[in-house]
Amino acid sequence: MPKITKIEPVVPLVKPRLKVAAYARVSKETDRLMHSLSAQVSYYSDLIQKNPEWEYAGVYADSFISGTSMENRPELQRLLADCEKGLVNIILCKSISRLARNTVDLLNIVRHLKEIGVEIRFEKEGVNTLSSEGEVMITLLASFAEQESRSISDNCKWGIRKRFQKGLIGTANKHILGYQYDEQLQRYAIIPEEAESVRYMFQLFLEGYSYQQIADKLTAAGIHTIQGNNFQEASVRNHIINEVYAGDILRQKTFTPDPISKVKVKNNGEMPQYLYSDAHEAIIDRETYALVQEELKRRNAMMNPTYFFTGLIKCECCGNTFTRKKSKLRGHTYVHWICRSKKEKGRTCNSDNFAEDELIKICTATIGKDYESRIKAMSVDVSGNVHFTLKNGGRRMWTNLHLHPAKHPHTVTDVFLGKVVCGKCGTVYHRSNGKNRWCYWKCYGKQKHICNNVNFTDYQLRVISAHILGTSELYDEMFIRSIDQIIVLDGGDLKYIYKDGSEKIWRKL
Ligand SMILES: [Zn+2]
Ligand SMILES: [Zn+2]
Repeated sequence: MPKITKIEPVVPLVKPRLKVAAYARVSKETDRLMHSLSAQVSYYSDLIQKNPEWEYAGVYADSFISGTSMENRPELQRLLADCEKGLVNIILCKSISRLARNTVDLLNIVRHLKEIGVEIRFEKEGVNTLSSEGEVMITLLASFAEQESRSISDNCKWGIRKRFQKGLIGTANKHILGYQYDEQLQRYAIIPEEAESVRYMFQLFLEGYSYQQIADKLTAAGIHTIQGNNFQEASVRNHIINEVYAGDILRQKTFTPDPISKVKVKNNGEMPQYLYSDAHEAIIDRETYALVQEELKRRNAMMNPTYFFTGLIKCECCGNTFTRKKSKLRGHTYVHWICRSKKEKGRTCNSDNFAEDELIKICTATIGKDYESRIKAMSVDVSGNVHFTLKNGGRRMWTNLHLHPAKHPHTVTDVFLGKVVCGKCGTVYHRSNGKNRWCYWKCYGKQKHICNNVNFTDYQLRVISAHILGTSELYDEMFIRSIDQIIVLDGGDLKYIYKDGSEKIWRKL
């Protein structure tokens, strides 16, 4: 056999040039904004054009006030869109903190770009996101960056707290109705005429007038807020609950839990509060003030009676508790239990809501009719499942099958054809499209107005069937192999009849 010499093909050494862009960010806080911006732009365009392997793809520059929010960064959005279109292979960026100041945003951007093959090079940190250590480095650096920003914010808070503790109170509002802050004496001084208005307001409250009635009476008497506006329910309430009128000052009524969003939220006891008694001359004497507090409590109790679930249900998404929410829609009153974070300013949560009657049914079905005497604690997890801790130490769970159509994905399942039978009128369920893009299964008798049995979305039937078959999602073949028929009982419970004749019932709550 002849000896064969293998010859490697000659590959021309011309690689396509990489399209390189830069992302710059300048803060409006600096006076030299425009200078800084144009300096960054020319720095990067030089840097990119000097490299023969690189093709200049532009400099994207955002200017904005504070680096903590991802909103209002049109240039970054444009850059990401251009990456998507394949117009950019490499992004140069001064430092990690320029691109994002919180870990989540940063990692989202980095990971997404990595997936589509776009590399980011951070100059200051010397990190290249497509390198093998890239992700590890990014995660570490990002968490350092976040800690740094957190500790700066903590330092500020610490300084303020120290001042509180030393009794250096200061004040957020130099002028409130009835008081002007005296810079020399470092305390509030009474404005006699306004103090009369305050006394009048408190007096009306003790006489039993509602906030709205008080607001109306103040307006009628020509009394306005210090901004010169008419009083409203909320502004009256804010004056009535202000301890300043009794001569006290309470500090840290609000705090900033997230240094990244910098939003103030109400202090529900997460942080210490500082009370200075007799910090200045009172407008409302102690006795009257105590009566007002009693009256406030009485009115609150009337408006917010305690329910069995009050303070009992913990939200596992955000750590807050669930609260009762009553709402009216087209003459109907709806009562729901929702995560408190959805009601509080500066917080938010996307956990599930529960109608009160639904929640009671969940408790009854899972724990029993005597649930009130047996449940010690409840929590709702991210999937909307309800977990119970019982007084005897036992644990239970109610599986949420996401039965609220708003959360249903759009599915269309053939294996249900001819398998779903109405237990009320005997006709077969058929498939139809609802006005809201979901595919529904409906009793055919409904169309002929001879039956009113319950409809199911296709997704509901899939989830319930999977639950019955003991799998996390529905496998069509498994369904065909095992289930002979689903009978929709009157009221919406489902009776699954297996091929071997056995039965299983799924109970709608
Ligand atoms: Zn929550
Ligand atoms: Zn029917």
